[in-house]
Amino acid sequence: MNQIQLVDLHTQYLKIKKEIDAAVLRVIDSTAFINGPEVKDFASELEAYLNVKHVIPCANGTDALQIALMAIDVKPGDEILTPSFTYIATAEVIALLQLKPVFVEVDTDTFTIDVADAKSKITSKTKAIIPVHLYGQCANMDAVMELAKDSGIYVIEDTAQAIGSDYTSSTGQKQKAGCIGHIGTTSFFPSKNLGCYGDGGAMMTNDDALADQLRMIANHGQSVKYHHDIIGCNSRLDSIQAAVLRIKLRHLDAYTAARNQAAAFYNEAFDAIEEITTPFIAPYSNHGFHQYTIKLHNVDRDALQAYLNEQGIPANIYYPVPVHLQKGYAQYGAKPGDMPKTESLTSQVLSLPMHTELTEDQLNYIVEHVIRFIKG
Ligand SMILES: *Cc1c(COP(=O)(O)O)cnc(C)c1O
Repeated sequence: MNQIQLVDLHTQYLKIKKEIDAAVLRVIDSTAFINGPEVKDFASELEAYLNVKHVIPCANGTDALQIALMAIDVKPGDEILTPSFTYIATAEVIALLQLKPVFVEVDTDTFTIDVADAKSKITSKTKAIIPVHLYGQCANMDAVMELAKDSGIYVIEDTAQAIGSDYTSSTGQKQKAGCIGHIGTTSFFPSKNLGCYGDGGAMMTNDDALADQLRMIANHGQSVKYHHDIIGCNSRLDSIQAAVLRIKLRHLDAYTAARNQAAAFYNEAFDAIEEITTPFIAPYSNHGFHQYTIKLHNVDRDALQAYLNEQGIPANIYYPVPVHLQKGYAQYGAKPGDMPKTESLTSQVLSLPMHTELTEDQLNYIVEHVIRFIKG
């Protein structure tokens, strides 16, 4: 049995090595490293895959969030609703732009934004809501969109963990994650479901005016070369990464299927273990299983994690501290107990190895050890 990894990028690479190597060498030979044809082709191919009008590539998922906020014309002091149970990037860009992050609870089944709590925190200063499709499953976008419409605020979907996931609205309409709100953002960090071999990110929108704005901001606020109409930044996807992504995009659905297969194996093995709650699948979203995250009850979670690590099984906690209780975010005035659902989740969750290359031997080994620790 090969060594178990949280994410096995090397085995995945070996299966597409010929294509990848040729594509990377082709870019080097062309020397079109920046804004070359690969970047444009990747953007159009991702637009077709997502069925969205505009994909605007950029340097990483954090930039994508920042540029999205800049594009909706925010002013210092404006409030942005965001779940506290997320990766720091979501809140970081809000703070960096001198906006006020307003932390919202998550639903304890889906780990995604609790829209009722968001609604109770809307003020006259609220400018946008950023639902995060955590672990690969879409937030309840019907509820998010309704709230946004009623309150006149923007919706920016953080899709870094859920690229390719399908959302089904109450009318039965199917849309890809990130293409429902005003702007969607994603990351192509290597370990993400659609990962490149370095940094990368993108923004998605069906709105032509927002697309122009996003493109301009990502390119130094430039309308015509050397004419800068607004203050922008420099955020580009490079051609080598785009070439890698064009190949991996063709495999994305197969990768998602492989993740779902591994998840189904875990689900079945843990079905009868009452100390474990396996991932809840919401009726409105399928799951991309960026992470396979269980909730533990009456189990010493940290001891289980240490035991698994000793057995050569990497298991991780996403995320051990919610954003509202992070030291760097103390200025926003939150204190322990403010968000009971989020805070209790951070003490319960454990993410098991999840990637496209898990073998049945490895899965068996993992579940045996999890169950052995719990049942003794
Ligand atoms: C990974 C991630 C990001 C940031 O992406 P980078 O490409 O690393 O900047 C943002 N939000 C979420 C939820 C993420 O998981």
